[in-house]
Amino acid sequence: MRISEFMSEALLNPTHGYYTTRDPLGAEGDFTTAPEISQMFGEMIGLCLAQTWIDQGRPHPFTLAELGPGRGTLMADILRATRAVPGFREAANLHLVEASPTLRDAQKRRLGDATRWHDSAESLPDDAPLFLVANEFFDALPIRQFLRSGPGWAERLVGLEGDRLAFGLGEVLAQPALKHRLADTQEGDLVELSPQAAPIMAAIGARIEAHGGAAIVIDYGGWRSLGDTLQALRAHEKVAPLDAPGQADLTAHVDFEALAKATPSAHSKLISQGVFLERLGITPRARTLAQNLSGAALESHIAAHRRLTHPDEMGNLFKTLAVYPTTAPPPPGFEA
Ligand code: SAH
Repeated sequence: MRISEFMSEALLNPTHGYYTTRDPLGAEGDFTTAPEISQMFGEMIGLCLAQTWIDQGRPHPFTLAELGPGRGTLMADILRATRAVPGFREAANLHLVEASPTLRDAQKRRLGDATRWHDSAESLPDDAPLFLVANEFFDALPIRQFLRSGPGWAERLVGLEGDRLAFGLGEVLAQPALKHRLADTQEGDLVELSPQAAPIMAAIGARIEAHGGAAIVIDYGGWRSLGDTLQALRAHEKVAPLDAPGQADLTAHVDFEALAKATPSAHSKLISQGVFLERLGITPRARTLAQNLSGAALESHIAAHRRLTHPDEMGNLFKTLAVYPTTAPPPPGFEA
């Protein structure tokens, strides 16, 4: 089978899937994410979205949406941080895109019943401005991998070797979707393609261009994929991707070029998470919060700030992409 089929089954199979059967986040889980590391992450994103909403004339009503909200922590912090922005909360209708019933329950406990859930971004409302955030969502989408062979590509596949899962290669074929990669790859290079990412981004971009709003996408990855980035994490340790299907988180780096190119009608810019958060004022905010802390709590707060922003930690690996209407100013942090 294709790696994308393996990933879909391993992550979202209704009875055995990794996301469908558990809450994988936090210290006791398999991995942690920026909103779980510090409340400051959601506060910065919330104020960024609220300022963008003000800059676009405070539309009422609007859709406030998140893709893959996990435990609902990021959205809870966004809602808390924007409480002081007159009219924002009253105008917001909350919509979450979440595939896992387990995590939907966690989100409901955190965010309440006034929330609507969707299986996919394509069914988000298409009649109001859309203000959307997605943190570590696109890295969980299934990818396909291709090995360059002459003017064609051999797809990397998952099969059986005895009774163990193993990688193999399909036959060499032309891949129209990879035509633009013939110029910048060499024999034996590996490239990745996420079949669902571009259609999701296109649906979001079309709503934003038609009705206003903005999307902020944060994830690890870069501009244009090159090399094998498929990875599995279990209990915060890397494991072999095929070893424990349904028991480990499977992700791949996000190809932001593919996301940006899916929204031709919207402006897009890519900056690192560290620069983005610094521009939004995370350091003054961290100092304010630090005034009420001491001892171990202060140390862990300082470590969290470093982890989110420092180039050796998440600051550089994670990138931020904004999508906003061609007629609107960029969201704060994305100015040239
Ligand atoms: N954004 C959260 C969680 C990231 S984990 C945070 O930063 O903490 C990935 C999230 O995306 C989980 O909520 C998972 O259930 C969801 N998800 C993964 N694949 C999905 C898909 N194809 N459709 C909808 N949600 C998906």
